[in-house]
Amino acid sequence: MNVAFKEPKPALRPLDAIAEALLLPSGIDGVYARTGAFESVVDAVAALISRHRELGAEVLRFPPVMSRKLLERSGYLKSFPHFLGCVCCLEGAETAIGGAVERFENGEDWTTELAAGDLVLTPAACYPVYPLVASRGEVPADGLIFDVAGDCFRREPSRDLDRLQSFRMREYVRVGTAAQVGEFRRNWMTRAADIAGQLGLTGRIEPASDAFFGRGGKLMAMSQIEQALKLELLVPVRSAAEPTACTSFNDHRDHFGTAWNLRNAAGEVMHTGCVAFGMDRLALALFATHGVALERWPTAVRQALAL
Ligand code: ATP
Ligand code: ZN
Repeated sequence: MNVAFKEPKPALRPLDAIAEALLLPSGIDGVYARTGAFESVVDAVAALISRHRELGAEVLRFPPVMSRKLLERSGYLKSFPHFLGCVCCLEGAETAIGGAVERFENGEDWTTELAAGDLVLTPAACYPVYPLVASRGEVPADGLIFDVAGDCFRREPSRDLDRLQSFRMREYVRVGTAAQVGEFRRNWMTRAADIAGQLGLTGRIEPASDAFFGRGGKLMAMSQIEQALKLELLVPVRSAAEPTACTSFNDHRDHFGTAWNLRNAAGEVMHTGCVAFGMDRLALALFATHGVALERWPTAVRQALAL
């Protein structure tokens, strides 16, 4: 399905100007320090998204790490092992840890003592939700809605400012019947297009696929597009010819319901879906469209953001 919306043409500015003014390099591709101006826009977009929160949504904010076991059970390694970051620590005996420090001080490789721990870096804000729902038992007849957010990590280093390794994701997550998830997703496509319109962003919503791993992944991606299980709101950031996915609308069918045995009173396996806002990309899209000087942004956009 395509939901088009019309807005004034963006006056694209080179991303270099944005990088210089708003995002400071860290020495690692895809990892930046964010300036106060950049963060003020991220916060304002977050507040605007909050104002669209549905009644009854449960708000949860997650840390940037989560249980490795829970992510494994969610099937992440089957689909996206290439993105995953695992927390490694020096957990051996004092002598082993001391030895690692000594090697470091001698200019040698100290990392050989590192051992994978029980934490991974959260790759998408909604993963911690499904085990939590499972731990609460039966899903009520009306289903559930969550408002979640967190810092996410994906090992996809790039020089492009819109492809980060460490970025913020905000999501509304729906757990319920296929019909409830379908309605949620349709509503959010309209709402997200409306929000983008208020922000003076040009864009379109199109079917997309996840970057599944390996040869089998290509088939999964094709079937995802065929069934329109993932749609993305594409907005010009780097260029109009290659717009950037700033928000995605995902229908997971019964993937998480099966993995976590989520059921309602009738014993039906639950479906899940989410709308995921890339907060850094939305802020970048705004700066790319309206320029780096906030005070020169169109009044209507600043009003929508209460900036
Ligand atoms: P892409 O197609 O660009 O790789 P994606 O389809 O993998 O993105 P999702 O998994 O749907 O993205 O993630 C939800 C949202 O998080 C995206 O719509 C996007 O705005 C944001 N996002 C995803 N990956 C990145 C990244 N590497 N850097 C910044 N934001 C990202
Ligand atoms: Zn999600």
